[in-house]
Amino acid sequence: MRVITTIQEMVAERSSCASSHKVGFVPTMGYLHEGHLSLVRQAREENEILTASIFVNPAQFGPHEDLANYPRDLPHDLSVLENLGVDIVFVPTVDEVYPPDFVTYVDPTGPLVSAAEGATRPKHFRGVATVVLKLFQIMRPHQAYFGQKDAQQAAILSHMVSDFNLPVKLHILSTIREADGLAMSSRNAYLNSQERAAATVLYRALQAGRLQFKEHSHAGALLAVRAMIDTVETEPRVHLDYAEIRDPDSFVQLELLRAPALLLIAAKVGPARLIDNFLLRADGSWDIGILTNK
Ligand code: AMP
Repeated sequence: MRVITTIQEMVAERSSCASSHKVGFVPTMGYLHEGHLSLVRQAREENEILTASIFVNPAQFGPHEDLANYPRDLPHDLSVLENLGVDIVFVPTVDEVYPPDFVTYVDPTGPLVSAAEGATRPKHFRGVATVVLKLFQIMRPHQAYFGQKDAQQAAILSHMVSDFNLPVKLHILSTIREADGLAMSSRNAYLNSQERAAATVLYRALQAGRLQFKEHSHAGALLAVRAMIDTVETEPRVHLDYAEIRDPDSFVQLELLRAPALLLIAAKVGPARLIDNFLLRADGSWDIGILTNK
């Protein structure tokens, strides 16, 4: 596995790849868990050359967020990626990605950006879109892999790819969960044991919301939202930020329960802000993620 830290070297390495080879790409912020690894495994199966990146992107963190404390473990991440057969890992510094003369940002607009996560994290998706476009330009992947866990990010990036006619196919893979339902996240490392136990309420709330879909299809979405809120309120350690039902592509809020729909939840648990979602696809099937059986 080649570990590359400069853009110049990465561009040269990419240019030396055989043009007949399919190149896959998994962008990450590191501190890798099974969620990341599921993307790497699928990408490994579907591409001749597999690339990944590890970059904690300052542009997607707000001024009072956890950039300085964001968990990192580069030696562990590199050994895991090597074991999974990654060919090239790009690990740039902040100055490499954002040199002092950097001035151009990708600024997505509309409810897709101002709703849900965007309401709490105003510049977050501008940072995400900017770094992903830059990484796509450097890595030039044919296929790139992202998690449904970050549903709004996936929707925004899908729009960016179509808006800018980017020659890359996006794959959005199911959320990988701990055995008790908690969605895997690098930020789970912030939780103490009591907070860790309480954090499962996000999953339980999504299940409660989903039940309303089954029992009251075509009813108002408020019932399902109410069920999510009531469930979160049973855990005093968990402070709800939002529980919402939105269209998975436009992120417009849904008044009526119908497919497709996205049940979204975000909450503070101790020092961590956690997000999760269930997706009701247009065909009526659910993507509620995959429980690991550890
Ligand atoms: P991050 O390192 O948090 O930026 O995540 C890198 C990629 O992994 C993103 O596409 C995330 O959506 C995805 N990801 C994070 N957590 C999970 C999870 N639990 N299951 C599946 N994918 C995930």
